[in-house]
Amino acid sequence: MILEAVKADITKIDYVDAIVNAANESLLGGGGVDGAVHRAAGSKLLEECRTLHGCPTGEAKITKGYDLPVGYVIHTVGPIWHGGSWDEERLLSSCYYNSLKIAADRGFTSVAFPSISTGVYGYPVEKAAKTAVSTVLDFASKEPGSVEKVIWACFDDRTLAAYQAEIDLQKGTI
Ligand code: ADP
Repeated sequence: MILEAVKADITKIDYVDAIVNAANESLLGGGGVDGAVHRAAGSKLLEECRTLHGCPTGEAKITKGYDLPVGYVIHTVGPIWHGGSWDEERLLSSCYYNSLKIAADRGFTSVAFPSISTGVYGYPVEKAAKTAVSTVLDFASKEPGSVEKVIWACFDDRTLAAYQAEIDLQKGTI
């Protein structure tokens, strides 16, 4: 498994099979990454999202990418941070695992994630990066040979540094 953190607008990434959207339970659009994904994909994305009837926190659903440079968007709903005792870590881990499961089932080999939950949802970025990287490595050990490359598209330097540090740290443990 190749893990990379890059500083990028996820809607501009054109070299993966699917990007992941940090959506909300309605799947009908919002701010942050979600707003950017809907703007870049065009109104057909919202039409398809309407047919999905939402998505519970921790789960994931796939749509086409429409006007995005990638073919598919995997929409996942991260947990809102309430201090850490409300199952936030398990739910964030589920977002990564379920998104990768969908990608693997479709035969995708590369996926780009945003920093799920660390914007409006308030999840501390260092904690989120730890869970994100460990879940991706756990997935790779359970489903070897499916998804080969995972990229985190980080919007700012602090987020980039957090994911890069965790990748360096945890890659050393496998
Ligand atoms: P959440 O509601 O899951 O917290 P947000 O979209 O508010 O999601 O933020 C998640 C992270 O994505 C934040 O680090 C935010 O700065 C970042 N972000 C916002 N827009 C983009 C974008 N176009 N590409 C990549 N990351 C983005």
